[in-house]
Amino acid sequence: MTRDEIMALVRTVPDFPAPGILFRDLTTLITHPAGFSSCIGQMAHCVPGGIGAIAGVEARGFIFGAALAVHLGLGFIPVRKAGKLPVPTIGTDYALEYGAARIEIDPTLLALGQSVLLVDDLIATGGTALAAAHLLREAGAVCDTALFVIDLPDLGGMAKLAEQGVEGKALLK
Ligand code: 5GP
Repeated sequence: MTRDEIMALVRTVPDFPAPGILFRDLTTLITHPAGFSSCIGQMAHCVPGGIGAIAGVEARGFIFGAALAVHLGLGFIPVRKAGKLPVPTIGTDYALEYGAARIEIDPTLLALGQSVLLVDDLIATGGTALAAAHLLREAGAVCDTALFVIDLPDLGGMAKLAEQGVEGKALLK
């Protein structure tokens, strides 16, 4: 499938989760067998050499990150919302386009110096991805690439990532 065809499978929902926000809903993409498969195949082509694991941000980053990990024969590291992991964690609070959030990881899942690709469904302001990249680095991993299905370029997230030494790539804009 072309990128335009994949883009056409993304549903736009007005006024979610708050009035005035246009939400890009990828459930219509992941329920389309050829669309989901093509999306993961094309994401795999964007993955640089030397990546040892994929990390995905809860919840939609799990869907694309885990599928990509299986496609590449790599393991998957969950970046979870606060309070979900049953073991000691490291965490960070960050600001969202609408609200605030906290994410956590189990640092023992990461090997020192392991190169980890961060995956999420969408980058808007970049706050979530930056927080996740910082956590992965705090745990001793190298995180210098992040991959998204969608970039909302007007919100400047990719530039924020670049300032912190993270190269962001996205399938769709
Ligand atoms: P950021 O932190 O870059 O401002 O927002 C990105 C995070 O919020 C991602 O974890 C993403 O899943 C979620 N998000 C923000 N806006 C949207 C949207 O329009 N559609 C989807 N699917 N996720 C969004």
